[in-house]
Amino acid sequence: MIIKLKNNTDKHEIGYLTSALAALGLSSRTEDGGRCIFADSREAPSESTVGKIKELCERECVEEIRVFHDPFLCCGRGYRKERRKIKVSDGVTIGGENFCLIAGPCSVESLDSLTEIAQRVKSSGADILRGGAFKPRTSPYEFQGLHEEGIKLLCEVGRYLKIPVVSEIMSENQLELFADVDVIQVGARNMQNFELLRALGKSSKPILLKRGMSAEITEFLMSAEYIMSAGNENVILCERGIRTFEPRTRNTLDLSAVTLVHELSCLPIITDPSHASGHSPLVKPLALASAAAGADGIMTEVHSDPKNAKSDGVQSITTDEFDSLAHDIREVRAAVKNIYCN
Ligand code: PEP
Ligand code: MN
Repeated sequence: MIIKLKNNTDKHEIGYLTSALAALGLSSRTEDGGRCIFADSREAPSESTVGKIKELCERECVEEIRVFHDPFLCCGRGYRKERRKIKVSDGVTIGGENFCLIAGPCSVESLDSLTEIAQRVKSSGADILRGGAFKPRTSPYEFQGLHEEGIKLLCEVGRYLKIPVVSEIMSENQLELFADVDVIQVGARNMQNFELLRALGKSSKPILLKRGMSAEITEFLMSAEYIMSAGNENVILCERGIRTFEPRTRNTLDLSAVTLVHELSCLPIITDPSHASGHSPLVKPLALASAAAGADGIMTEVHSDPKNAKSDGVQSITTDEFDSLAHDIREVRAAVKNIYCN
């Protein structure tokens, strides 16, 4: 349930309402400078409780009340039926009619290689340039990224080519470094780093939240709740494959997540066929399947010379392959658009 209060409601009135809700067995918290009270109960409130809540909400300070039972208070569809569209920059929005293409190398390697890849993916139609600077590698002996220098190069290339950029943050202490990054990515390994999620909730930048490799959909959405309930509603979800018994792929792309997330939540969801497959020949088919399943976009790893990439070369497609993927995915999207965007 969400109770919206009028502007300038005094804090004694807010205190009165929250204690009255507590007496009805509802835990509550206030947000939006005290203008909203979110009240939650573990179970659907009984009819008589709902009646008492409504009485309570006849008070002068209440502007609007919405009663619903949805564990996903912020990202669920109980409160907000319509899907969210997340604005990334003047020309780029994720969700709704727009299908978003995010492309670029796994990690930023050098100014020259990044510029070359970025020019190519942009001219093929990429909306956002990706590039990791802090790399969460399985082995501490593998390339860990260029760190601050990588962020600087990514932002420089983005500015030069006028394309927004996305990069992965590993800790809340790095937030200042990400001041010029347009979209902050939370990687699969940090999906349940709740301190980081809360800190990102204080930012107003769009957050690309990737699904943990063993996370259930409920856990995935609850992580989005951490960010949103802390104040940042600009969350984009990313299905990047989950661990299964199949060793021939790095992960298994769970396309049902796309439909389930749309059913349960107002947030856009994209897929990452590169990390989902770990095998470049699978990237295009999985990307096209994502578009056919109604995803709001895809993120792919692209390199001019995948064999010599410093990370994830085996799953990186070439710039030519991305060009062909971008062309074909637009056709798939056009064919299914009416099904998903009514
Ligand atoms: C990435 O996108 O660079 C990445 C490391 O992905 P994931 O967190 O999904 O493994
Ligand atoms: Mn990678």
